[in-house]
Amino acid sequence: MEYEDSLERALERTPDIEAGDDRFELPDPEVRQEGNVTVYENFQDTLRRLDRNEEHVMQFLQNELGTSGHIDESGRARLTGEFDDDRIADAVDEYTGQFVRCPECGLPDTDLEREQGALMLQCAACGARSSTS
Ligand SMILES: [Zn+2]
Repeated sequence: MEYEDSLERALERTPDIEAGDDRFELPDPEVRQEGNVTVYENFQDTLRRLDRNEEHVMQFLQNELGTSGHIDESGRARLTGEFDDDRIADAVDEYTGQFVRCPECGLPDTDLEREQGALMLQCAACGARSSTS
């Protein structure tokens, strides 16, 4: 039954990223300094591309950069401290490697699913289900 369920789920999803295309290009972070805060202007564009929950990505960025931050009313990420676009891009790459790209086939056609408290990466391209930790 479980197999059928996951097959059904895989079929009803239309990945927005074309299967077979292993180039996964993220928008270059547009970053500007505002006092001691780094404003990540196109955070929402990145989120759309990642197709992930904004709070999850935000939490990861804070851990990765070792700082605190929040998402403002315009959807920009505001991070305390000075981070240039390369540093932000690295952090987003790190996120992609851990929570977007399938470790089996390398494609980004995946969904995050919570299973008994653990986050699992379900791949729509090859069907692999992998642990994110
Ligand atoms: Zn896969």
